[in-house]
Amino acid sequence: KFNLSGKTALVTGGGSGIGEAISKTLAQQGAKVVIADLSLQAAQRVADEISDAEGSAVAVACNVADEDQVKNTFQEIAKENGLDILVNNAGIAHVGSISKTSSEEFDRILDVNVKGVFHCSKIAVELMKMKGGVIVNLSSIAAHVGLTDRFAYSMSKGAVHAMTMSVAKDFLAHNIRCNSISPGRVHTPFVDGFLAKNYPGNEKEMFDTLSKSQPIGRMGNPDEIGALVLYLCSDEASFITGSDFPIDGGFVTL
Ligand code: NAD
Repeated sequence: KFNLSGKTALVTGGGSGIGEAISKTLAQQGAKVVIADLSLQAAQRVADEISDAEGSAVAVACNVADEDQVKNTFQEIAKENGLDILVNNAGIAHVGSISKTSSEEFDRILDVNVKGVFHCSKIAVELMKMKGGVIVNLSSIAAHVGLTDRFAYSMSKGAVHAMTMSVAKDFLAHNIRCNSISPGRVHTPFVDGFLAKNYPGNEKEMFDTLSKSQPIGRMGNPDEIGALVLYLCSDEASFITGSDFPIDGGFVTL
């Protein structure tokens, strides 16, 4: 079950947190994983850890907001291996209501969280058209509930959700499945960075408060997200496309 042997998977933002866990989980099931991250050093560390565990991985530097870089990266990979799986995981956060969001900040979130998914998916569907493939996008509970003080971030993840359905519809006939997942709070450097920036000196207290405020009483861990992504990428999920899956300890519904 969930065997990905012979498949090539590209994970954006695979050098940290959720992307790291996804990369390792897919590699454990036999995929060759291309870890594409803004930080080559971070991507290389994860690739090395996968190789040490007898998996197959390569690291590439790629800014998903830059269409030319994305094209070059994907074309290089496709030459050698083709592309079977794309996980659009790279994303950045922003704190602020609409009143506290500048046009420049809005553009920055749009460039990475929305255009990044656009650039990568656009070239991926071309590469997958002949033999099919799978795309999984990282949305967020912010797309479902519009998180307080996260105007631009919520906007961007809502767009990811809509792009997911649109791509799923347009490429159904090419045997390309496209789904999104909407994690709740997951303990990654993304969360640690947010706490350090916004609650200096009080990080531990805020971490506990945030954890306890989740319906399930804790944050998620990245491996729990990796397991859902693995399922969606596998042939076992062949009947699933155009859907979004909250994975949030009950945040959206309880
Ligand atoms: P993280 O900050 O730990 O890791 C993000 C990775 O993306 C980093 O390695 C970073 O270098 C890379 N990256 C950033 N900008 C990039 C760019 N322009 N091009 C390529 N790579 C880039 O974050 P995380 O918590 O693991 O989050 C991963 C994804 O999950 C994001 O899309 C985030 O919005 C989403 N998400 C996270 C949570 C959470 O609680 N952690 C909740 C819901 C959704």
